Amino acid sequence: MIQIDLTGQVAVVTGGSSGIGLATAELFLKAGASVAICGRDSERLAHAEAALRERYPQAPLLAARCDVLDAVDVDAFALQVQTRFGRTDMLVNNAGQGRVSTFADTTDEAWREELDLKYFSIIRPTRAFLPMLRDAAGAGNASIVCVNSLLALQPEPHMVATSSARAGVQNLIRSLAVELAPQRIRVNSILIGIVESGQWRRRFDTQAQPGQSWEDWTGELARKKNIPLGRFGRPEEAAQALFYLATNLSSYTTGSHIDVSGGNARHV
Ligand code: NDP
Repeated sequence: MIQIDLTGQVAVVTGGSSGIGLATAELFLKAGASVAICGRDSERLAHAEAALRERYPQAPLLAARCDVLDAVDVDAFALQVQTRFGRTDMLVNNAGQGRVSTFADTTDEAWREELDLKYFSIIRPTRAFLPMLRDAAGAGNASIVCVNSLLALQPEPHMVATSSARAGVQNLIRSLAVELAPQRIRVNSILIGIVESGQWRRRFDTQAQPGQSWEDWTGELARKKNIPLGRFGRPEEAAQALFYLATNLSSYTTGSHIDVSGGNARHV
């Protein structure tokens, strides 16, 4: 991987206590950035913080409990980052999860929950961190990167609400990119297919046959889903794409996305 020195820059990763977010936080720390992560579950957050501190004992790291759907929590998180680090250069909107449901079994309430999660997990942190991002833009790099899914372009009926919300969010990201470009804040996304992470580990726990290994279960799923690279992605593979889009390595890229789906996209 290309080496880049991020000393003096601050990266904020929502949902940084597990999976893709945690792997992304680690990449930023490795490159010398100060990093702030958040999540709702204090125990999971403490565990992630301890793991990062063990690997990067001197690293400037802030781990804060925050539900990105709660405006008060998000403002408090932004204030903590401002107080501790004084700036934000890169915001990674990663927090969230998918919903498995067909049109027939998605209630009005479930639709609202899903739309709320997908939209406001981007809207609230973006709004709260925007003043700091504007300040950072003058220093040469200010960016927002959102974790989105290939479902935005290639919907799947068994995840109807998630697919639909993700398409809307991709549209929102485009608008944000254009609105914020004159302020020199870049906005991009990654579209992921299936990445091994906390939510898939939880699905494995409930769905795997007795005695079936993680490798067998994920391999079978990858085959069923016709993923050309024949396997799930790893959190660090999604993290590397996020890192590229967040940093100056992608200084002339905005309103764009990177596909991290193992070749699963069917469109040209
Ligand atoms: P994980 O479950 O491993 O990580 C999700 C992270 O988000 C956790 O840190 C979780 O912490 C946090 N989180 C969830 N909801 C909130 C919330 N409301 N406020 C703050 N933090 C929250 O899953 P992934 O790493 O796979 O997921 C990362 C992103 O990638 C998600 O947005 C997910 O929807 C998306 N994605 C993942 C795919 C995959 O195959 N893995 C496919 C498509 C998209 P806590 O629960 O403690 O709050």
